[in-house]
Amino acid sequence: MDVVPVPQLSDNYAYLVIDPATREAGIVDCAEVPAVLDAVDREKVQLTTILPTHHHFDHVGGNEDLLAARPGLTVYGFDDRVPGLTDKVGDGDRVKVGSLEAEVLSIPAHTTGHIAYYFEAQGVVFTGDTLFAGGCGRLFEGDAAMMIVSLEKLRQLPDDTRVYFGHEYTVNNLNFALTLEPQNQELNDKLAWAVETTDGGGYTTPTTIASEKETNPFFRWESSELRATLAERFPDLAMEDVAVFAKTRELKDNY
Ligand code: ZN
Ligand code: FE
Repeated sequence: MDVVPVPQLSDNYAYLVIDPATREAGIVDCAEVPAVLDAVDREKVQLTTILPTHHHFDHVGGNEDLLAARPGLTVYGFDDRVPGLTDKVGDGDRVKVGSLEAEVLSIPAHTTGHIAYYFEAQGVVFTGDTLFAGGCGRLFEGDAAMMIVSLEKLRQLPDDTRVYFGHEYTVNNLNFALTLEPQNQELNDKLAWAVETTDGGGYTTPTTIASEKETNPFFRWESSELRATLAERFPDLAMEDVAVFAKTRELKDNY
């Protein structure tokens, strides 16, 4: 499997998912058509499938134009608000790109219909706006308790799973993370790497589940340093998972 990041809008990523055996491809989260069709031509693949993670405009805004340009595409989706939806899927369903197979994981909270595509055999997951490098999505349609369950599902994937996320927010996310865990060495190292990478015009996608376990405060609600920081700043905060997570999310919303 080849995964080609296709930058969209100001900081979004679409991803061209290529089956090398058949040269068929799917596009995860299409906001803008021209860059996607350029990538399809450059890679000399046949686009067959759209794989939206959720219904927000910056993830599906190109669906209708892409369908007009390439009629007959399969448009997977969990949420009826996905434009052009042809094949509705549920949690645990399987979707195909050529001979590649992914499992649909329901991971609500950013939106109620948010899903991930998990290509188990290839060790790859597309997480949209639920899990970013160093961060998680805002809680637009769910709450902290719902988001913890969704992130726990992703945290259970094998450590070496490559995580392709929806936005290049990594430097900002890691700077925020450092306000809670200044002594976390992996976090400091990853921030330095992310700054150098993006300054050079590079991408910080993909990350891995292992790296997120070490650096992402929204994967680290059990961290003693994170809890100590919160306890010092908010002496009345209950030190239990959902409260810790909710406070972390609230601080990030206002960061
Ligand atoms: Zn979104
Ligand atoms: Fe988004």
